[in-house]
Amino acid sequence: MATRLNALRDPEHDALRDSVATACRVLAHEGLVEGILGHVSARVDDGHLLVRCRGPEERGLHATRPDDIRLVDFDGQGDELSGGWKVPSELPIHVELYRARPEVEAVVHAHPPAALLCGLAGLTPRPVFGAFNIPAMRLALDGVPEYPRPVLITRSELAAEMISAMGDHSVCLLVGHGITTAGDSVEQATVRAVNLNVLLSATVALARLGASPPDVSPEDLAELPDLGSRFNEELVWRALVDRAASGVPPGPRFL
Ligand SMILES: [Zn+2]
Repeated sequence: MATRLNALRDPEHDALRDSVATACRVLAHEGLVEGILGHVSARVDDGHLLVRCRGPEERGLHATRPDDIRLVDFDGQGDELSGGWKVPSELPIHVELYRARPEVEAVVHAHPPAALLCGLAGLTPRPVFGAFNIPAMRLALDGVPEYPRPVLITRSELAAEMISAMGDHSVCLLVGHGITTAGDSVEQATVRAVNLNVLLSATVALARLGASPPDVSPEDLAELPDLGSRFNEELVWRALVDRAASGVPPGPRFL
């Protein structure tokens, strides 16, 4: 079976398949997903995507291999599903984002505990820190949109609601559920998810402390450069990948 499936595969997609698998392991290591919940995808063309699927030997996101990443069409069908592979039940999150936003090349969906607490407690992430993590602060500055329904997004109509709530933002908080992030690469969507988790974790931790610090002043904002460049995202991605591979403990934990 393995030989037949490998023969069906286009080697052109190997690097992308590897990136999606690596992103899943990074998200697990950083605590954004637990067990088998959560998925990452990459657009292949305007009718197909590579997406983290579940196979007969599923062991969780932390153990994702390139073989777990399968090519399917926007209806969730494809030859690579033979042998007992299943697309995520929330595939519409990915497919409808690719349909609605041509600039989106990769999508992350995860269930970080900080997103659950932040959403259910009605906390609004604000830009209260600066140089600690500038990209995370900028997410707050732009405003983190919320999709208020805690539903499993198994239908395109529900995905359309989430996408409407998300607007033209790169991230969305799904109240009572998790997060969705989008990017022009798997690396960018993943780094955004990790940064969003830092922001939401800090928001929850400050609320627990009873602290309500002021927003960073315009004067200080002017001293915080925009680090969202491709170069910086690649540096962060490489550090995340190395940390997951080497077993070094994940980044800032506030909870
Ligand atoms: Zn979900």
